Amino acid sequence: MLAYTYVEPGIFELQNKPKPVLLDSRDAIVRVTLSSICTSDLHIKHGSVPKAVPGITIGHEMVGVVEKIGSSVSSVLPGDRVTVNVETFCGNCFFCRHGWVNNCTDPNGGWALGCRIDGGQAEYVRVPYADQGLNRIPDSVTDEQALFVGDILATGYWAAQISEIKPEDTVLLIGAGPTGICTLQCVLLRSPRQVIVCEKDPRRLQFIRQHYPQILAAEPEHLPEVLRQRCPYGGADVVLEAAGSQDSFRMAWQYARPNAVVTVVALYDEPQILPLPEMYGKNLIFKTGGVDGCNCAETLRLIENGKIDTTPLITHTYPLGKIAAAYELFENRRDGVIKVAIQTALS
Ligand SMILES: [Zn+2]
Ligand SMILES: [Zn+2]
Repeated sequence: MLAYTYVEPGIFELQNKPKPVLLDSRDAIVRVTLSSICTSDLHIKHGSVPKAVPGITIGHEMVGVVEKIGSSVSSVLPGDRVTVNVETFCGNCFFCRHGWVNNCTDPNGGWALGCRIDGGQAEYVRVPYADQGLNRIPDSVTDEQALFVGDILATGYWAAQISEIKPEDTVLLIGAGPTGICTLQCVLLRSPRQVIVCEKDPRRLQFIRQHYPQILAAEPEHLPEVLRQRCPYGGADVVLEAAGSQDSFRMAWQYARPNAVVTVVALYDEPQILPLPEMYGKNLIFKTGGVDGCNCAETLRLIENGKIDTTPLITHTYPLGKIAAAYELFENRRDGVIKVAIQTALS
């Protein structure tokens, strides 16, 4: 089968590999129908994910059809259309029992697919702990609608969930990239009084203004003035930082009002400074981390009921055979790309 492979830092290559087989009774083999490229894949390519194992198949955002299941798998059957979770988790350990599946203590726990074990930018993928890692896609939900459920939409849902958003709140979201937009949709589900999105890329700003006219979208240079007009208590009640750029962490705590919740969704390339003397007395509550991706059934229900729609994020579609061109486009942010869907042309 075709599999897009991490050869060494800087080099990904479409290779021919044997089809994966069941290695454990809790595994499933999924025939991938649609996958996507995530910024984390670029981090692997650039050598900034030390855990990534050369030789593995890339890809951790995908949907497909269950081909085979191990004898202990009970939640899906061959033929089921499923989302695949970015995180592998056992469902039984201390962390899993608390819903903190990102810290599952299994050797493959956390982000393994497409990083430490073969992922889904391929025709087939082996999914460990299939009862946890796969969710059936409702018949009325398309592959395109479900594509981001296991990764960036899971992240957005988790970020909104931990941010303690209340109806009277002004929520400031920094960054309107793909994860930012998924986060925005999940923030809106909680119906805060107002939402302000800060983004410096004019095309992303335009996307927000076009698709979410009820949202106030502002460039970073205009944000202080917008907040002065809109927030009577010296900043936003809740800040979600999904940009991960040079200044965005500083903006996140600076533009929060005293006693605000500041949720850091972004992943940074470099350490950030937390200048505690400067923020002394501001009494902020920081929430940070990687997604606990265990709400996929709920997000699929929200998609089925028309409450979430991430299909406008798919700006481009490529066949698996042309995945290198898709990477080139995504990496260089050409042609207004937000997300690329990779189609596996089997039936
Ligand atoms: Zn990802
Ligand atoms: Zn676990």
